Amino acid sequence: MKPRIGVACSTMDEVEGRGVRRLHVPEPYVARVEEAGGLPLLLPVSSPSSVAEYLSLVDAVLLVGGDDVDPALYGAPRHPELGPVDRRRDEFEIALVRAVVRGQVPTLGVCRGLQVMNVAMGGTLVQHIPAEVPGAQVHGGLMDEVHPIDVVPGSRLATLVGAARADVNSHHHQAIARLAPGLVVSARADDGVIEAVEGPGPGFLVGVQWHPERMPASRVTAALFRAFLDAVRAR
Ligand code: MN
Repeated sequence: MKPRIGVACSTMDEVEGRGVRRLHVPEPYVARVEEAGGLPLLLPVSSPSSVAEYLSLVDAVLLVGGDDVDPALYGAPRHPELGPVDRRRDEFEIALVRAVVRGQVPTLGVCRGLQVMNVAMGGTLVQHIPAEVPGAQVHGGLMDEVHPIDVVPGSRLATLVGAARADVNSHHHQAIARLAPGLVVSARADDGVIEAVEGPGPGFLVGVQWHPERMPASRVTAALFRAFLDAVRAR
């Protein structure tokens, strides 16, 4: 049996005027899970009280990118540059993160996935990097533009990247502000923006601010998804 990877769905309003909210996952996430030997299963945004039952059906969780997390969930007023928020998705994913942390279920968070992980565990977010991080470089660029990151020596990420520096894409206007207790920083951009975090324990809890799924030829992407799947098989 292949490891079953629950991929938490993103949401989308009003596609082509159909006036109905949709749940979806960009295909590259599914492709990378399959390449690493996993069986992707989509988890719909639904009642937070169903999280435990969903977790009984999968071996690991992948949190994908998407809209901003509602700042009310980390006790902050809305910044004027805040993007759209979706409270139902936030609440489902926050419940999911708390459950995977409790159950030590291997989890990889990508972009918003890292951010929601931080909020669920008690941290806060920068709502708009250009307005709130003095001297910030460009993070909200096109998906094929890259910037370097410094990987923290001794971190799990350092082990799997195998280098102190790597190039990653950057497609985010938010970032971690106050780091949640229970997470440690494993990479930063040159301007100090947190680009990766992880749980310090033996369980696989990793968040990356970039989009590895959109860099299929990257050695870092391959290593990250391989390590994720290895952690599932080792459990
Ligand atoms: Mn970035």
